[in-house]
Amino acid sequence: MSDPAADVVVIGAGVIGSCIAWRLSQIGMKVIVIDSGAPGAGASGSCDKAIFLQSKRPGLPMRMAVESRAMYSTLTDELDADIEFSPGGGMVAIETDTQLTFMKSFVEEQRQAGITVELLDGDQARAHQPCLSEHILGASYSPDDAEVNPLSLNAALVDAAVRAGAEIRRQHEFLDVVRRGSQAEAVVTSKGRIPTKLVINAAGPFAGVVGSRAGVGTPIMPRRGSILVSEAHPQIVNGNLLCAQYVAAKHLADVPGAEAPPYGIGLSLGQTASGTLLIGGSREFAGFDKHPDREVLAAIAAHSSRIVPSLRGVRIVRAMTGLRPYTGDGLPIIERSPDLGGWITAAGHEGDGIALTPITGILVRDLITGESTTGDYLPALTGLRETLAHTGRTGAARRKQAS
Ligand SMILES: Cc1cc2nc3c(=O)[nH]c(=O)nc-3n(C[C@H](O)[C@H](O)[C@H](O)COP(=O)(O)OP(=O)(O)OC[C@H]3O[C@@H](n4cnc5c(N)ncnc54)[C@H](O)[C@@H]3O)c2cc1C
Repeated sequence: MSDPAADVVVIGAGVIGSCIAWRLSQIGMKVIVIDSGAPGAGASGSCDKAIFLQSKRPGLPMRMAVESRAMYSTLTDELDADIEFSPGGGMVAIETDTQLTFMKSFVEEQRQAGITVELLDGDQARAHQPCLSEHILGASYSPDDAEVNPLSLNAALVDAAVRAGAEIRRQHEFLDVVRRGSQAEAVVTSKGRIPTKLVINAAGPFAGVVGSRAGVGTPIMPRRGSILVSEAHPQIVNGNLLCAQYVAAKHLADVPGAEAPPYGIGLSLGQTASGTLLIGGSREFAGFDKHPDREVLAAIAAHSSRIVPSLRGVRIVRAMTGLRPYTGDGLPIIERSPDLGGWITAAGHEGDGIALTPITGILVRDLITGESTTGDYLPALTGLRETLAHTGRTGAARRKQAS
């Protein structure tokens, strides 16, 4: 039996693929989403809940995050679902004098980039966030930071996409693309072919694998992260709490010569509406291995309970390990392939995919319709850019191959 053609096949039903499917269905496109597992099976189902502006690099990453954060203000109504969006602000705790010096200049850069952020001393930080240890020297605080429940977000995006006409196919692995000349004609999945002239690679940390099956070089690799999950607990934390070491772990691994903390450990603490604490986390390059490492989990527990001592009395019920889709420069790749007609990549959001979900849906829609309804970010999001790193394939090498 031949499958009716789709206007577009989206590969991946994480937050990114689901948001794209929703936005494209809204404009009347016939969308089929395929996932080798199910919605939320990837990074989107094993991550923290921060929509953090303070942790973004000034420049393009920050501008995109600010615009995406603004889109969250209306998302609950648009999706008609409770995604536990909370504009409760966020804090970065500072433990040492070295971190204080680093954070002073980081905060100054954030301010210049237009973020509302202030530096608090230890007592002021504890007044806002009573769970903090007495040794905390201070903190940066921004009311612009927010939170969302990523599992609820992923489910709500899928539901909205389906209501708008999209079809979700679980357990359908993308295997290959059928070409006519240099144009995509159909995708081959583990459960058959789907004719289409437009394919979107939203496979998150697997976008590199999916790209290579289609013959499209896609410099995205997995960066592993683990989080401890507690049983429901009375409220401990207000909004989201990071530590300065988290900011260093996030950015310093990409700075030549700079030293990142062991296992990339840095506190990321949030609490869901049901009281579950998400206590993170780590940042490591370990291929596609998603097994949680006991030593890493113990290091997360030790680090987090040093900053928030009351965590010592919290019962941990499980650990989540996910793979961040890493590009190396803090920006995703959103582009039409120069090599294969009808192939779009929309992946590589690393540790910011939840924060950047709303804007990614709009950018991909703009890329397809040719309209420009948001900032002019797309030219900078090409997979040919020079700043892509740690992928074994530089932007220059790809350009050479593409030319
Ligand atoms: C520990 C951790 C903490 C994080 N904390 C935050 C945070 O606080 N804030 C934030 O903004 N971001 C955070 N992130 C990052 C965020 O989770 C990701 O950037 C985001 O979830 C990526 O979404 P995605 O849809 O691109 O990928 P995914 O959610 O991984 O979705 C990709 C989908 O593609 C499917 N797939 C893969 N291969 C194939 C194939 N061959 N065929 C069909 N389907 C396929 C997978 O099954 C998966 O469902 C965190 C990530 C981790 C790991």
